[in-house]
Amino acid sequence: FAPWEDPEAKPLIRFQNVTKRFGTFTAIDDLSLDIYEKEFFALLGPSGCGKTTMMRMLGGFENPTEGRIELAGKDISGVPPNKRAVNMMFQSYALFPHLSVWDNIAFGLRRDGRPKDEVAARVAEMLKLTRLEKFGRRKPHQISGGQRQRVALARSLAKAPKLLLLDEPMGALDKKLRQDTQFELMDIQEKTGTTFVIVTHDQEEAMTVASRVAVMDEGKLIQVATPDRIYESPENVYVADFIGDVNIIEGRATLEGEETYRIDWAEGEAPLRATSSTRLDNGQSCFLAIRPEKVTISPERPEGAVNAVHGKVLDIAYLGNISTYHVELASGTVIKAQAANTRRISRRSFTWEDPVWLSWTVTGGVLLAG
Ligand code: ATP
Repeated sequence: FAPWEDPEAKPLIRFQNVTKRFGTFTAIDDLSLDIYEKEFFALLGPSGCGKTTMMRMLGGFENPTEGRIELAGKDISGVPPNKRAVNMMFQSYALFPHLSVWDNIAFGLRRDGRPKDEVAARVAEMLKLTRLEKFGRRKPHQISGGQRQRVALARSLAKAPKLLLLDEPMGALDKKLRQDTQFELMDIQEKTGTTFVIVTHDQEEAMTVASRVAVMDEGKLIQVATPDRIYESPENVYVADFIGDVNIIEGRATLEGEETYRIDWAEGEAPLRATSSTRLDNGQSCFLAIRPEKVTISPERPEGAVNAVHGKVLDIAYLGNISTYHVELASGTVIKAQAANTRRISRRSFTWEDPVWLSWTVTGGVLLAG
């Protein structure tokens, strides 16, 4: 039973009708959001949508123009950053170059005047947590980028904050290291039980690490849900399009069965069918969002297929384990289909110009109101 589904659960963080203006510009627009203890929460959205502003308000570097932000039930407006049980790990890591790894991690604890043996014990614990036991004496320039990132993390967690804010924490790492680090970060988050709020441009990263993802646009929340819900049941075309690869077909919906709609679309193309639990009016304009991996590509029309369209292969992207085919239909629409490359001998099962059928089930696409 997840805390966000539990009406009794008390949020660790509560944004209550928060608006943030810079002059006349509204960066955050009447936004309400609850984040729960032990969550790994991701803020996702295009550049300028207000992610960093949300973080800065949580960290105490900005105050809301209107509304309030609560931490563990208390209004934190006006509480300075160092008086909040919140820490922020910056993309630049901001390590002290002249201090050793050990001293970097100890810095905040010493500044707070904590007893020597307590500092030593805590630093040792943090070094162990981030697998840096062997690197305590090194300076930041004597360790790798991935290790520096772990030092920054160890330092941010040393004072056991209730909430850790991570601004593009893996932005400086290359792709392979990023992926390893994502799992490490999830592991550390789980071990410490600290609530993490992460800002990232990388949707895959958000989907990998987060318990819930908030998709933002122009200072508003568009959808807040678990990664699989965001991916499988996007609330609108914006979310469907923002997360992962998708085919968007525009048409008009007519109710045919209990929850089954017929979708009339491009001229000359057979109507499509999709189910939707939200009611659409007859003839209402709609979008059908279909993930490429839900589309089957085959040389013949599959028998009994509910949705099948015919076209020819325009482009192929070979990605090793899978290939993505761009197929052009008679109407000129291009649909992407993904197929697993399971057979070793054939690099591709289809080649350019091949006539093919694309098919998907009645639940393969998500029907959204236009
Ligand atoms: P990015 O992904 O590019 O970092 P973001 O989603 O984090 O973007 P924010 O940095 O939160 O976006 O900015 C949201 C909007 O508020 C932007 O249009 C930005 O120009 C504006 N903004 C942010 N800080 C200020 C400021 N101090 N003064 C004026 N405008 C600001």
